[in-house]
Amino acid sequence: MLTPFGRVVIGLFVLIVSGVTFLIVKDDESGAPETARAERTFDTNDPIKRACDLAPRELARLWRGHDDIHSEDVTIVPLPPNYSGSFGTTSHSGPWDYVQTIPLVLYGPGNIKAVGRLEQPASIADVYPTAGRLTGVDLPPRSGRVLADALEGDASPKVIVTVVWDGVGRNVLERWPGRWPNLERLEAEGTSYLGAVVGSSPSITPATHSTLGTGAYPRRHGVTAIEMRMPDGSVGGAFGGRDPAGLRVTTFGDEIDLSLGNAPLVGMLAWKSWHIGMLGHGAQTTGGDADHLGLIGHGITGNDTYYSTPAEIAGFRGVGGYLKELDRADGEADGEWRGHDVKELHDNPAWVSYQTDALITMLKSEGYGADDVPDLFFTNYKPSDIVGHQYNMDSPEMGDVLAAQDTALGELIDHLDAEVQDYVVIVTADHGNTPPPTRSDAWPVLQGQLQEDIDARFDVPKGKSLVVQTTAAGPFLDRRTMKDLDVTAKDVARFLNGYRIRDNWGEENLPEGYGGRGDENVLAAAFPSDRIDDVMRCAFDAPKPPEEAGI
Ligand SMILES: [Zn+2]
Repeated sequence: MLTPFGRVVIGLFVLIVSGVTFLIVKDDESGAPETARAERTFDTNDPIKRACDLAPRELARLWRGHDDIHSEDVTIVPLPPNYSGSFGTTSHSGPWDYVQTIPLVLYGPGNIKAVGRLEQPASIADVYPTAGRLTGVDLPPRSGRVLADALEGDASPKVIVTVVWDGVGRNVLERWPGRWPNLERLEAEGTSYLGAVVGSSPSITPATHSTLGTGAYPRRHGVTAIEMRMPDGSVGGAFGGRDPAGLRVTTFGDEIDLSLGNAPLVGMLAWKSWHIGMLGHGAQTTGGDADHLGLIGHGITGNDTYYSTPAEIAGFRGVGGYLKELDRADGEADGEWRGHDVKELHDNPAWVSYQTDALITMLKSEGYGADDVPDLFFTNYKPSDIVGHQYNMDSPEMGDVLAAQDTALGELIDHLDAEVQDYVVIVTADHGNTPPPTRSDAWPVLQGQLQEDIDARFDVPKGKSLVVQTTAAGPFLDRRTMKDLDVTAKDVARFLNGYRIRDNWGEENLPEGYGGRGDENVLAAAFPSDRIDDVMRCAFDAPKPPEEAGI
């Protein structure tokens, strides 16, 4: 086991690059810096130079996460541990190890070796070729590699179940030791890749789930984030209308299903369309069939145009009884869980139990793993991500939800042991989480203020804005206003590279604890996304990162 996160000196990074020296000391048990914070300032605001100085591995992740059509106009990389959000609400997008490192655990007696914990690098993209090997299907080659150390030579499970704990990076597991005994057992009795990463930035749900499904990175599969620039110039959401068309390449679900004459069962139960990228295109693929889709809201629904929703799931009971039970569990029927309205958000253990009962019902009623044709089932537990955003990764809510998701994993394994025996379970996450500023001393990049300041800097007339939409990965700009005012993405990036804590705080006095930090930069880098090739040329003398940059 690694040392629990809270007690690790996360990093003493001394970067001496191009005359820029900065020192980040994070973080002892109190969360306070161990020594006086050295300069967190830079001697250039040039967008290419600033990005060029990021660590090679971080640059490679940004490159893999970029798409010419869909990406934000200005890519921002907060100066870690800064993040986009507020003091109360964190986000988790970036190229740094702490949001990139995720569990990747394979388990299945007879199919997966009991290797235990391995330190070697791995990527969520490796799930794709590994599923190909497990089902004996030759998949089109993509970016991942087969996780061969984990596989028994004659592995051929009847079902592969992929479980994603949304936002539960290694740093969340390390923060909450003892809350995930079932996963810990699977790590010891299966194979666990401690060096597994997402491998691309933005590290955001739809992008990473799509990487899991396709074995390719966003640069190839095209799903870069939640908000994306659409080909018509508008800014829209990933998998809008539950339509998988935005996913440019097939998933292993698509390929294995087609290759075996649509005999395999392929299905997913999850919260939102953001997770469709790990399932696939269903009947939208030529020759494909309507795979099972269940998305959890007040009822469980799908999209009959490309998928089907099994009757047992479409008619599954509502979450009400589960919420009531959770409400009463603290001895009081007051409609609350830890002071939050149980009905308000998809953020509590009742949703975990509900999803688990539904998915075991789905596995049973449809007969996943019932015959020798390999089936593929996917599920994503979202409450762990929502509590991370709402209450932060150190909150008792996170501990509760993590324990509930681990109990659910135990129930799934019990079901598979009893009914299937011959199976593989893969447990992973789509990104890590961001420590709260009270622990990390991070500055939250306040997006509303940032937008106001961009507009003020470029004298944007009242009622207009240069920013169509701010996101954790960077802003989408209003192309019309840019043209009218003769402002480029590079101009905006240069401005953001000079942007300081005092600029981002709308009031005279900085918040407590930040008094002496007004001159610190907020971002490590901001650059026009369409200049990413120039950033790579600057860093690597080539338009793309070399293998040695790592994943
Ligand atoms: Zn999230």
